[in-house]
Amino acid sequence: MNFELDYEHRLIRDTVEKFVDNELLPLEPRLLVRESQGMGPGLTSEELESLHNKCRELGLWGLDCPEETGGVDLPAIAMVGVNEAIGKTVVPFTFPPDSPNLHMLLATANTDQRTRYVDPYARGETVSAIAISEPNAGADPAGMLTRAVRDGEHWIINGRKIWISRVDNADFTIAMAVTNPDKGSRGGISAFLIDKNTRGFEVAREIPMIGGNKTFEVLFDNCRIPAGQLLGEEGAGFAPMQLRLTVRRLQMGAWCVGMATRALQMMCQYANQRVTFGERLSERQSIQWWVTDAATRIHACRLMLWDAAVKQDAGKDVRTEASMIKVHGTEMASDVIDHAMQTYGAMGMTKELPLQLMAQQVRTMRIYEGPSEVHRWVVAKRVLRQYE
Ligand SMILES: Cc1cc2nc3c(=O)[nH]c(=O)nc-3n(C[C@H](O)[C@H](O)[C@H](O)COP(=O)(O)OP(=O)(O)OC[C@H]3O[C@@H](n4cnc5c(N)ncnc54)[C@H](O)[C@@H]3O)c2cc1C
Repeated sequence: MNFELDYEHRLIRDTVEKFVDNELLPLEPRLLVRESQGMGPGLTSEELESLHNKCRELGLWGLDCPEETGGVDLPAIAMVGVNEAIGKTVVPFTFPPDSPNLHMLLATANTDQRTRYVDPYARGETVSAIAISEPNAGADPAGMLTRAVRDGEHWIINGRKIWISRVDNADFTIAMAVTNPDKGSRGGISAFLIDKNTRGFEVAREIPMIGGNKTFEVLFDNCRIPAGQLLGEEGAGFAPMQLRLTVRRLQMGAWCVGMATRALQMMCQYANQRVTFGERLSERQSIQWWVTDAATRIHACRLMLWDAAVKQDAGKDVRTEASMIKVHGTEMASDVIDHAMQTYGAMGMTKELPLQLMAQQVRTMRIYEGPSEVHRWVVAKRVLRQYE
């Protein structure tokens, strides 16, 4: 298997790495101060605008968008390096547009929807959200109850979604709803495009989460939308939703490699200079083993990502690999960050270092896009079946 990037893709990855070093990392101290003062670790609109301008200047836009939408069309193998670089900082930034929804849209949108939704989204002019989870259906989205009923040239949607990211300022939300309760996830769940300010679509409350995240509860109260807002085939919403989740899971694995690499670097720098009981921490076997385990697990995760990316670029189904990567990556990064915090002693408990934010961010990652236990269960079922 060849993991080499070609010349052009290497150049883009190098540009991304410079962007992270020169534009994102310098923002971190400011962000940490704001976070420690209770203002959250988000970027201001001015900071975000300035970063977006820089991205346009450097051609870092629509990195995995197809060329016909004005994007760079990077293969998955090149996106591993891009996302790894981004993962090195706690500055909450992803290159626009956010990939997973884009991939779901590309797989499902008709010609009219491509013009109205995909093209502006790929150009970075709009923000999107996805509403799958419900109070009684999170890890098991097949159990969702939000119902869409056809009424002539309209659909009427009723139900409640929860934990929805970005929906407060999304120009449109991809909402999943049941269109045929008898069929459930096998032909009975559809996707809909809901524009901001659609009557009957209400953001009910903001829910602050750890790691600077916030999510929202959303209500559909007789929300009437034109029939043309159905995304993809009626009843066939589940498969593209899974495709979207696979894209995100690989992205998360690469973020984890980036986060863990940064934590390992910090751990080594400190261990090399901190002396206790007359010896540097780097001389202690407990610390050395953390270093070895971290380097080994980071290496393994990166190889898993490259392997999945090559397969994905070849058009293969990588759902199992994506589940393995999500579990391995998030748990590996959690452990490495925790060991880095432990190495720093009291300093590791402060809000002056990015480690505490990284720890919180990676903690949420063990839940969203599917909890670890569910991924383990899914992988086990597939492996057991293989040896039946
Ligand atoms: C920061 C954040 C952002 C999010 N953003 C979005 C979003 O934008 N859109 C959206 O739709 N959703 C979003 N979610 C929701 C997320 O996808 C769900 O929280 C997740 O799927 C788990 O669902 P749940 O919380 O209902 O947990 P439950 O389904 O109640 O599961 C609870 C726990 O039970 C265990 N468990 C469940 N099933 C099994 C099983 N089969 N085997 C073993 N153990 C099991 C797991 O430990 C799991 O953590 C977000 C969540 C977070 C934390």
